[in-house]
Amino acid sequence: MDDLLSLKKAFLDEISSVSDLTGLQNIRTKYSGKKGLVTSKLKALSSIPPDERPLYGSTLNEIKNFIEETLKNKEILLKENEKEKRLQTEKIDITLPGKFTPFGREHPINQVLSEIKDIFVSMGFSIEEGPEVELDYYNFEALNIPRHHPARDMQDTFYVSDDVVLRTHTSPVQVRVMEKKKPPLKIIAPGKVYRCDADISHTPMFHQVEGLMVDTEISFSDLKGVLELFIHSFFGKNTPVRFRPSYFPFTEPSAEVDIGCIFCAGKGCRVCKTTGWLEVLGCGMVNPKVFEMSGYMPDEYTGFAFGMGVERMTMLKYSIDDIRLFYENDLRFLKQF
Ligand SMILES: [Zn+2]
Repeated sequence: MDDLLSLKKAFLDEISSVSDLTGLQNIRTKYSGKKGLVTSKLKALSSIPPDERPLYGSTLNEIKNFIEETLKNKEILLKENEKEKRLQTEKIDITLPGKFTPFGREHPINQVLSEIKDIFVSMGFSIEEGPEVELDYYNFEALNIPRHHPARDMQDTFYVSDDVVLRTHTSPVQVRVMEKKKPPLKIIAPGKVYRCDADISHTPMFHQVEGLMVDTEISFSDLKGVLELFIHSFFGKNTPVRFRPSYFPFTEPSAEVDIGCIFCAGKGCRVCKTTGWLEVLGCGMVNPKVFEMSGYMPDEYTGFAFGMGVERMTMLKYSIDDIRLFYENDLRFLKQF
C-alpha cells in the first residue's frame, strides 16, 4: 500500500509545479500512459497476495480515477491561462495614435482632362481611344501627311521601326473610328502623345484631346459654335474667342483658335507677347482627302476636327509657366490643385 501512497504523493508534487500544457502531457504519459506507472501497477495486480488484493485494488482504482480527474482539471486550468496570456499579448491599445497615411489626389493634368471630357460629353460627344504605339499609316499617311512632310522629321517623331511610331498626336484615332463607323460621328479622343522635344514648354510625352464631328451638313459655323461653347465653359463666359486662318494637312480650311489673354485681359503682356491673344487650339473642316482614305464619300459628308494640348490648357487655366513642373512630382507643386 505504501507504494500507492508514494505514487500519489509523487504525482501531486509534479502536478502542482507544472505550468504549461507540454509539461502536463509529459505527466499524463508518465502516469496514465500505456506504459505509465498506474497502468503497470494495474498489470502487476495479480502478484499481490490474494487477501490484500481487494483493498489494494480498490485503492489503486481510486488513485487512478483521482489522477485522471486531476489531469483533466489541470488541463482546463492551463488552457484558460494560456488563452488569458494570449489575450494580454494581443491586446490592441486603441488609445495609441494610428499610422498616418497621407491623402493622395488627382494629378492636375488628369483633373483638367476630366473637365474637358465632361464639357464635350455634355454636348453629346462620345469618348474614343486608340493605340499609343501607332502605324505610320494612321499617324501620318491617312491624315494627308505624305512622306516628305516636315512633321515626319526624325527629330520630332519617335520611330519604333520604319512603319511604326509613337503617335505624335491623337488624330489617328479619327481615322480608326471612321474606318469602323458610319456618320453621324461626334467623338473626342483624349490620350498621351509623344514628340522628341523637351524644354520649358515641351515634354517628350504630353496629352491631347482630339475632336471630330461628321454628318451630312456640318459647317464651319458648327465648328465655331462647339468650340466657343467649350472655351466659355472652360475659361469663363466672358472670354473673348477668335478664329485665325492657319494650315494643317488634315483640314481645309484650317484655323487656330485664340482666346483673349487671361493674364492681361487683352492689354498685352509678356505671356501673350503683347498681342493680347493666346493660342489655345487648332481646328478646321476635315480635308476631303482624309475622308476618301477612310472610305467616306467626300461629296456626301462634311465634318470638322480640332485638337488641343491638355498641358497647355492647364498652364493657361492655372497660370503655370513651366510645363516640366507637371512631371517633376514635387508634392509642393502638386498639392496646390
Ligand atoms: Zn497678355
